[in-house]
Amino acid sequence: MATIAEALDRLSRSKFRASFHLSRKDLAYLEEKGEDTIKRHAQDFVKIKLSPAEPANDGKQTPMSGHPVFKAMHATACCCRGCKEKWYRVPQHRELTETEQEAVVSLLMAWLRRQKDRTYFGLAGDRKKKRAGVCDENIG
Ligand SMILES: [Zn+2]
Repeated sequence: MATIAEALDRLSRSKFRASFHLSRKDLAYLEEKGEDTIKRHAQDFVKIKLSPAEPANDGKQTPMSGHPVFKAMHATACCCRGCKEKWYRVPQHRELTETEQEAVVSLLMAWLRRQKDRTYFGLAGDRKKKRAGVCDENIG
């Protein structure tokens, strides 16, 4: 199993995964809610959207924006079970264990922290890009 740093590194080499960035609105939302609340949101989203053996609408259950955690889920390939299997070799059609869920939440929070850090170095910006709304690395 890769460390969080290794996973983020690998993801950053994917053009599709690396194309997700937090907008100023997302960053303001993170600031307003604070890390503990955002982490609770992440735990809820992971539980509902990713953990079940058969998640509802699998492959399309995670919006491309609307909450910073949604972007983190796409950026880390934790958006659906197909991506999860492809990137982390976690088989589909079985529920994620507590440990696996915690690992996903840690990865999401690490990605969000990294995005926040980018703003200190002037690397963040609003990008307007149309997305197809499906999990496909070949789009965009
Ligand atoms: Zn996906």
